[in-house]
Amino acid sequence: MTDLIVSARVFSRPNEPLDAEELLLTEMRSDLVRVRLCASGVCHSDLHVAAGEWTADGPLVLGHEGAGVVEAVGPDVVDTRPGDHVVLSWFAPCRRCEHCARGEAWLCTGTRALDHVLPDGTTGFRRRDATPVRAFLGLGTFAEATVVPESAAVPIPRDLPFPVAALIGCAVTTGVGAAINTARVRPGDTAVVLGCGGVGQAILLGLNLVGANTIIAMDLSDERLALASDLGATHLLRGDDPDLAGHVRAITGGGVEHAFEAIGSPGTIELLPQLIGRGGQAVVVGMPAEGVRVAFDPFDLADQGKRILGCNYGSSVPSVDFPRLARLYASGRLPLDRLVGQTIALDAVDGALEDLRRAVGLRTVIIQTTPYPDARV
Ligand SMILES: [Zn+2]
Ligand SMILES: [Zn+2]
Repeated sequence: MTDLIVSARVFSRPNEPLDAEELLLTEMRSDLVRVRLCASGVCHSDLHVAAGEWTADGPLVLGHEGAGVVEAVGPDVVDTRPGDHVVLSWFAPCRRCEHCARGEAWLCTGTRALDHVLPDGTTGFRRRDATPVRAFLGLGTFAEATVVPESAAVPIPRDLPFPVAALIGCAVTTGVGAAINTARVRPGDTAVVLGCGGVGQAILLGLNLVGANTIIAMDLSDERLALASDLGATHLLRGDDPDLAGHVRAITGGGVEHAFEAIGSPGTIELLPQLIGRGGQAVVVGMPAEGVRVAFDPFDLADQGKRILGCNYGSSVPSVDFPRLARLYASGRLPLDRLVGQTIALDAVDGALEDLRRAVGLRTVIIQTTPYPDARV
């Protein structure tokens, strides 16, 4: 059998352009699935690695927000077939640990995805000299194709556009899930969203979907605030407003019931308790750089019965939530296509990471290939 060679963008050292490399893909075995990538979002977590804010040893194919078509499957695969359209989950659940058994895939303790390897500890990519090349969060979607465990490839309807499907793989599931699963927002609740990048906009969609009433959006970018308004925000605040907390309390008569931080910045995370009223909850969704510390007034938390929650992957189960989100898009209740900003070729990924660093624009999506005539992009 001849090796499959694919073009990929590889992280080696922080703050340098990604390397364009031709890599070999591992053979199909056990429960592995080979996916020809059609679209891949560029997410802040990729930037955390590229900028050296998260420790990761190269060589590492970046990208973790992808969708594509299954090309080949190993002998033990049961849930997907060649030709299936799939969204990739960057937290391939082991399906065996206590959390998986409880239906809490986002808390899986058996996954090897956080080590950027396959479940057996090997890598799907290698160089011609046999050097293993790891894949970010077990996916490595900045490539023409990748190899992932079956539990990371979730089938979705064939008519779902690939850019939308890709965003379901990270930003959408994280943001909508933060509102619905983590915070369990109810109709009529009040909320504020700090940061209107891809995840923040998805939180707004989730709030709108469940009928939150009074939805405040905050960002530094007028372009992002304009989209936030279109997606259901009832009030817009500039991120450089010197009295953000005062305005949020004035709009809601004492503070919101739910405050979401979708930036991962210590300044805005520290602001959270001041934005929520008695009994309110703050949800940390944005992923900070390693080593960041923040300070809260614990008396205020105890005295006012406030809660601070962490949210990983929208407290979502990919095999359940990806298809549900796809169906909500198909029925028009979740206009996920509004989150897709610029579309680019794989070659332009360094520019997209630079845009993320400057926190401008909407979600950039790489279009890798459209090899199938019935594939919509
Ligand atoms: Zn992401
Ligand atoms: Zn598990």
